[in-house]
Amino acid sequence: MLRKTVSLLCTLALFVWSSTACAAPKDDQSHAKVKTYFNRLATDAGARGAELRLFLNLMPKGGDLHQHFTGTTYAETYLDFVKTEHCWISKKDFSVITPKDTAKLPDTLSVDKLRSDNKMLSDFYMVWSDKDFSNHYHDQTAPDVQFFGTFANFSTILKYDGALYTEGLKILKNRAQLENVQYIEQMFVSPGYKVTNPAFDAQARGAVANGDIAQLRSIFQNFIQNVVKPDPNFASGMQSYAARVKACADAVNDDTFTLRFQSYVSRNDSPAEVFSALYTAFSEADKSDLVVGVNIVNAENAPVAMSDYSLHMQMFRYMKELFPGVKTSMHAGELTIGMVRPEDLTFHITDAVMVARADRIGHGVDIGYEVKAPEVISLMRDKKIAVEINLTSNDFILGVKNGEHPFRLYLDQGVPVVLTSDDEGVSRNNLTDDYLHMVQRYGITYDRLRDIAANSIRYSFLNDKEKQRQLAMLDKRFADFEARMAKMIETTPKH
Ligand SMILES: [Zn+2]
Repeated sequence: MLRKTVSLLCTLALFVWSSTACAAPKDDQSHAKVKTYFNRLATDAGARGAELRLFLNLMPKGGDLHQHFTGTTYAETYLDFVKTEHCWISKKDFSVITPKDTAKLPDTLSVDKLRSDNKMLSDFYMVWSDKDFSNHYHDQTAPDVQFFGTFANFSTILKYDGALYTEGLKILKNRAQLENVQYIEQMFVSPGYKVTNPAFDAQARGAVANGDIAQLRSIFQNFIQNVVKPDPNFASGMQSYAARVKACADAVNDDTFTLRFQSYVSRNDSPAEVFSALYTAFSEADKSDLVVGVNIVNAENAPVAMSDYSLHMQMFRYMKELFPGVKTSMHAGELTIGMVRPEDLTFHITDAVMVARADRIGHGVDIGYEVKAPEVISLMRDKKIAVEINLTSNDFILGVKNGEHPFRLYLDQGVPVVLTSDDEGVSRNNLTDDYLHMVQRYGITYDRLRDIAANSIRYSFLNDKEKQRQLAMLDKRFADFEARMAKMIETTPKH
């Protein structure tokens, strides 16, 4: 705890340094040429999408701070895993069948057989991702159900052979490097330790309903002392998680690429499960250099997530006090009108910032509906609480895009903005694609673009020394990129 707390105290000093490091444009010819070229391109963004994509694909983008491992892995890769593990796909529902499921074997397809049948393969992709959701007729599924429903398919094959996680990470690293991303802060796996306890559930929910926060904190304290800490599975779960995280990081980290992890809990678990998993996640993040933060995930509009929201915020606040050096990014405000009751749209980001004291907000889409929006925005600006913007994901799940999306509101109000990918495999896009949407929709200048890319390092949960190294690397990459683009601009024939 001490180490991370000391590190926390240095952050302000670093921010003063880093906020100018990458944003300051280099006063050289290449930079000026590229800036003029991009700003002209951006004013005609609708007609020049291909040219913009070329530019944005080659442009260094720093890091991706909001990425889920299972949702970022493409269905094609999962099929490769199913094949190499000698497993099958169910004819009935396209789930994975392992050799252990002998009862289901007659109803299976080999991966080769599936791949040889265009119709079946197309149907498979529609179950395992958002592919072809919008471009032709199919039985109507709600987009959020479609999106979150894909995740149930991924775990069977990953659990069948734990080594697949490492293979998957190598593939994601390769993809990141191909689009000039040097750092990923990934929601990878949870420590796995969680316990059910109906008595805790009832007491904790009762205390929140009565507004008795002192009582709630006493329930939390007792649960840690009497249930979690004495449980041998807690210590062993932490140990195996730490070993697993280290092995995976070692397999991909090198001088050119850095991977760090966020641990997380599921907001649709029971209160005892969320609390025990959260305590484990914070405990691990507090002592690990590889696990740099804690998050809360899953569909925010699901019944348990909605009814336990205030309880979850109190849990995070309690943990932040126990472990002041641990950073948190929290999915909050991934909601919109029509999805839940209007009154349910009024406080999620507010509570994540003001009650749970989140260091970053994931999505933040419903800010326009929140009754304390001006105060929250002001707090996010003053305390440098960045918002992770996921344009493709928000468009698909929530149907929120263009001017309805609060991207411009956050940007204009001075809230730090980072562009992130969420679940590339489910959405079938990449980070460059979201950069393109940003430029096409919101008229971004080159200086702003560079600033947003640099934000992905500035507002990462890396330690100060590593942040400086990553920012210097990003600066160097921008210099190389601008020199290369300037050459292309110079040699473009004049028509
Ligand atoms: Zn997410």
